[in-house]
Amino acid sequence: MGSVPVTNALTIDFEDWYQGLEIPYAEWDRFEDRIEAVGDKLLRILDEAGVKATFFVLGYVAEKFPGIVKRIESAGHEIGTHGFSHTLIYTQERNVFESELGRAVKFLEDLTGKKVLGHRAPFFSITKDSLWALDILGELGIKYDSSIFPVLNYRYGIADAPRFPYTIKREKYEFIEFPISTLKFAGVTMPISGGAYFRIYPYQVTKQAIKAVNRSGKPVTFYLHPWELDPDHPRIDVPRRIALTHYFNLGATERRLKKLLADFKMAPMKEVLGVN
Ligand SMILES: [Zn+2]
Repeated sequence: MGSVPVTNALTIDFEDWYQGLEIPYAEWDRFEDRIEAVGDKLLRILDEAGVKATFFVLGYVAEKFPGIVKRIESAGHEIGTHGFSHTLIYTQERNVFESELGRAVKFLEDLTGKKVLGHRAPFFSITKDSLWALDILGELGIKYDSSIFPVLNYRYGIADAPRFPYTIKREKYEFIEFPISTLKFAGVTMPISGGAYFRIYPYQVTKQAIKAVNRSGKPVTFYLHPWELDPDHPRIDVPRRIALTHYFNLGATERRLKKLLADFKMAPMKEVLGVN
């Protein structure tokens, strides 16, 4: 007899291709919008697999294309927030972060008629320099966060943070953190959670890594961007460190995602955490 499979969290950082390239949002008007078409493509893939996910929707996208957000919600997926302007939180003033996130959450709640329970920071940018952001999440009624990457990268990470869901207690608020998933392997903490890592490693590496975490009884959070299913999106000049991961092996995403959905039990994050 096999053991009961662990349910992992499937999460989508719902933003268009030009929004995670560190280009200020005041300049976003000049780029081609592709989020609706690729969002519908993603919804078809999830529907065929019979899997529901959490969509952390960027506020800018929701205001410009409320229709696709409604379609995601009516298909039975969870709507969370990815902030408004995809700015690194630790570069923002507290009051700017607060007004942007408040605007994004209110727009989503008015659109769907449901409370927004979950938050994922742009670029996983809750670090030791921006822990104050957690207090603002609490003030806005957010019940869980999934932004802290327990590794160190040039733009994110808290290397010594816990690797599995835990409770964060702040002075006034308490909520659950679902850290971005990693595997400890030969003394090294290896990101296994999706995004560019999903395209860089062979599929079998991702599969065996998730299995290894699940064997210890723990869930993984997997994340994907809709533009990773759109290999033909425009190529623009961005710094090499960004271009390398952004454009790498996009043609493999769709095939690999379908395998992943068949190989693992996955659900929206609020269900995995038992939050409502
Ligand atoms: Zn993002």
